[in-house]
Amino acid sequence: MARDLIVVGGGPAGAACARRAGMKGLDVLVIEKEQPPRRKACAGGFRPSLTNLLDFDISPVIEHESCGSHIYSPSGLRVVCTKPMLTGYTVKRSKFDQFLLRKAEEEGAEVQTNTEVVGVEEKSEQVVVKCKNGETFTSNFVVGADGVNSRVARSIGIKPRWNDDEIGLCFEAGVPMDPSDIARITEGPYGPDKLCIEVFFGGIQHGYGWCFPKKDEVSLGLGCLMPYAKDLRDAWVRFVESFEKRNGVKVDLSNETAMRVPLKGPIEKTVTRRALLVGDAAGFVSPATGEGIYYAIESGQIAADVVHDISEGRADGTWEYEKRWKSHTGKELKVSNFLANLLFNSEKNMELICGMAANDPVIRGHMTDLIGGLKPYSELRMSIMKRVMARHALTGIRMLY
Ligand SMILES: Cc1cc2nc3c(=O)[nH]c(=O)nc-3n(C[C@H](O)[C@H](O)[C@H](O)COP(=O)(O)OP(=O)(O)OC[C@H]3O[C@@H](n4cnc5c(N)ncnc54)[C@H](O)[C@@H]3O)c2cc1C
Repeated sequence: MARDLIVVGGGPAGAACARRAGMKGLDVLVIEKEQPPRRKACAGGFRPSLTNLLDFDISPVIEHESCGSHIYSPSGLRVVCTKPMLTGYTVKRSKFDQFLLRKAEEEGAEVQTNTEVVGVEEKSEQVVVKCKNGETFTSNFVVGADGVNSRVARSIGIKPRWNDDEIGLCFEAGVPMDPSDIARITEGPYGPDKLCIEVFFGGIQHGYGWCFPKKDEVSLGLGCLMPYAKDLRDAWVRFVESFEKRNGVKVDLSNETAMRVPLKGPIEKTVTRRALLVGDAAGFVSPATGEGIYYAIESGQIAADVVHDISEGRADGTWEYEKRWKSHTGKELKVSNFLANLLFNSEKNMELICGMAANDPVIRGHMTDLIGGLKPYSELRMSIMKRVMARHALTGIRMLY
């Protein structure tokens, strides 16, 4: 008997999809390659409104709440962009992802771990999912939530490979650190309960570095668009050295990973008749900030809703999924791409933006909103352009030429 739905990948996109499908009464199986808790290269920061997507409390897996960021310009100018409110959360992905997967199980999803999917074959009446261990499963629909190197996307021929200019490469490490050092390095103006994330411009073209605080470690990383990644390893070494020197700490890189991340927004075609791609597999990451967890969860949930609606006769095909994500998130991520092109276009632009932010509290507020995902990108683009034209017209012109 074919299941209603198989979800390939048990990251945030897959877990959110499976929970929603389970809540709607679908017979759903998640197939995950790794054995949780697995490490995932990720800074683990996300916007406060992610909690609005979820119907359960995530406080057990929150590491820190943040109140903004320290932004470093290419020349080393430090700008503190904060607000007296919650601007984001950080999590350890190993714990967070395992937690979400358990929440899917609570709603009846079956989860099979340690099982790698090696192929998906779409037939007229069902989908056959083949695993490396020789097992095969059948279902009416399959959701590809298997991340940036999606096997599902390749198998069904939607996205055989990413072009270099669509993808970023990052070095990331979870660096163990004494909590007092973490608090000192990332402290903000609103007390020890609200720390700052740190963002570093310069040293690499079309990219940035970061330090995101957790309870007993920081996520340290540096990434850029693939065409500029030739010197990324050297830039990463220099980045780590300067972090050590600035903060008087020794950085242990023993769990360093190199990982790709989609950075041009969602791909155009995300469905076939019986398959839907969600999360990184479909490119749902904000090009301006690298934030993908929010969009992974959102797209996973939309996919589950659509599969359910099809099974109930309320939607007549998977294309409904594309219609739903394109109507809002697709537009937002296009604006995010515009902002990324403006921001990361050159070190000159990064320096000019940091200079404006250092001298203008309104621009600092917009930067806090942008980095924290606190306002829609379309609204922010308008606000930033208005302010630059009103108060920084010459700088604005220099950014364009
Ligand atoms: C260095 C770095 C830093 C980042 N920092 C942030 C950040 O701070 N905030 C943020 O919001 N986003 C961040 N992102 C992006 C974020 O990590 C992704 O957008 C998010 O993980 C996407 O979730 P997903 O569920 O689509 O994919 P994933 O989290 O990649 O999960 C995919 C799952 O599928 C499984 N899988 C893969 N192949 C198979 C297979 N063949 N068979 C079965 N299972 C399979 C994997 O084991 C994995 O568990 C970062 C990315 C990188 C690389």
